[in-house]
Amino acid sequence: MTKNKRKQKQKSTKEKTYSIKQFRKDYPDEDSCLEKLFQVQYGKLGACPKCGVINVEFKRISTRRCYQCGECGYQLHPTAGTVFEKTRTPLTYWFYAIYLYTVTRNGVAAKELQRQLDVTYKTAWRMADQIRKIMVSTEKAKLKGLVIMDETFIGGLNKNRHKNKKKDGTAGKTMTMVFGMLDENGHIVSKVFEQGPSAALLKPIIREHIHPDTIVVTDGGNAYQGLHKEFKEHQIIEHRNDEYVNEEGYTTNPLENHWSSLKRMIKGTHIHVGVKHLPKYIAESIFRYENRNQPEKMFEFILKKLV
Ligand SMILES: [Zn+2]
Repeated sequence: MTKNKRKQKQKSTKEKTYSIKQFRKDYPDEDSCLEKLFQVQYGKLGACPKCGVINVEFKRISTRRCYQCGECGYQLHPTAGTVFEKTRTPLTYWFYAIYLYTVTRNGVAAKELQRQLDVTYKTAWRMADQIRKIMVSTEKAKLKGLVIMDETFIGGLNKNRHKNKKKDGTAGKTMTMVFGMLDENGHIVSKVFEQGPSAALLKPIIREHIHPDTIVVTDGGNAYQGLHKEFKEHQIIEHRNDEYVNEEGYTTNPLENHWSSLKRMIKGTHIHVGVKHLPKYIAESIFRYENRNQPEKMFEFILKKLV
């Protein structure tokens, strides 16, 4: 792939939306939600797991969350063993909560779910927690091709921290650093450190996650010195000189945009996020970022993982 093509690939494509109008049309009531859960688990026209008849019709038993095989009478319960089973929360509420998570840019707070669904805070929190767990990304293959790396700082004031967590010499600020690596396909790997950037801290994680046959793009920070020896190419953007795109046309902007949205999500939605919980929120923010152009697919993905 040529450099130009790589750079084009970095740019985000036009965002698709999943409108509330379409969502309401797709899932107007409990039955349509249950039907969706049935499809997600057993396919549209799957074979009966018991009698094996293909394309058999499963009839809905109207009084229960249950479908029955038209051949042998075998019953399937699409919510059995899922998070939907034990709660008395209507499926439409769950679906709407998932919908909110997939269309929002900055995440949804449990308080907001509570307000919109008119459920207790406990219920809202539980729903939010289940959905967020799904969004935490799974293991990824090594990043390669073109990878941008950058770090950012998140956190409150030193004086608000526990005594043994206070940091010295940082002018009252904590040093919660989030380090990230973004490849040309939009995949991100990130890690939280309670220290500033150093080669000793960053190089092991860089080596672990990036294939040697890669063009790496970083700012001029000391921690990144010497990467040209380990990777195909090392492109440096001198932010100190107000440079945002270097002479070769490389930039770290896409990752910086991601940091901005992560900070908006934490600040605007969750007010205060402790260091301990930060990785979860970063994972959610990455999930959202990686899937930002396909909200309907995101919706399906979460649903599949919930059943
Ligand atoms: Zn059957």
